[in-house]
Amino acid sequence: MGKIYLIGAGPGDPELLTLKAVRDLRESDVILYDHLINPECLRHCKEDAEIIFVGKSMGDHTLPQDEINALLVSLSEKYNVVSRLKGGDPLIFGRGGEEYEFILNHGLDCEIIPGITTAMGAGAALGLPLTHRNYSSEVRLITGHKKKDGVYSDFTALDLNNKTYVVYMALTALQDITRELLKNPENENVPVAIVEKATRINQRLVTGTLKTINQVVKDQNVQPPAILIIGQVVKFVEEMELLKAKVAADNASRIHSSF
Ligand code: SAH
Repeated sequence: MGKIYLIGAGPGDPELLTLKAVRDLRESDVILYDHLINPECLRHCKEDAEIIFVGKSMGDHTLPQDEINALLVSLSEKYNVVSRLKGGDPLIFGRGGEEYEFILNHGLDCEIIPGITTAMGAGAALGLPLTHRNYSSEVRLITGHKKKDGVYSDFTALDLNNKTYVVYMALTALQDITRELLKNPENENVPVAIVEKATRINQRLVTGTLKTINQVVKDQNVQPPAILIIGQVVKFVEEMELLKAKVAADNASRIHSSF
């Protein structure tokens, strides 16, 4: 029986792979990866490694989860080292915990390699501190994807004061989430951001308020993968963007006047 690695690939920038992830990819005989993985990450695989796309974007399940689980187990009977490469951190959303349990239930050896989860990657890549002494003393990671009932009432009572919420899989549910939060009229002007394709070269930040964000997303044609960030730290990143523009303009005029 082989060894199975559950590896976090980080949010997109291939340079955010850990050294451990790279070492394990180099060792792997077979690698299963999905649509969130930047194909650049796969260049660390051995030349003769078997690389299997197991898909999965919302509504497009190339392989259902139970088939992925079964495949992991059957591959480990055939190969010494099997890797399951997952976007971000392997255990943050994305059903990594279920894969881990399945592997252990089959008596197999499994090692988990942490990855940078999207919230942290996006925050650092944009200069958006998820915690900040003046704006937020708490961060919560939430899924916008509900299992079956489609009910979003657990968003209604969220206290937005001095906190940051990062909602994964939020685009489809954005209207439901904002509707629930806006039941509290004090929330109307709470700043929110959507980060599209965080840490990739085409990463995009769009900002608004809980009241305006649905329109902004429509106008800017925001596409998945994206996360929603709710809280006053978004105001900070907007201020930093203005500051960067001002510094750049000051520098440009200084260079100009020195000619
Ligand atoms: N394990 C992953 C999350 C998997 S759930 C992690 O730790 O990041 C899938 C969701 O993650 C997507 O629907 C999207 O909300 C978010 N996501 C993943 N990669 C992203 C990226 N590069 N930019 C923005 N959101 C991303």
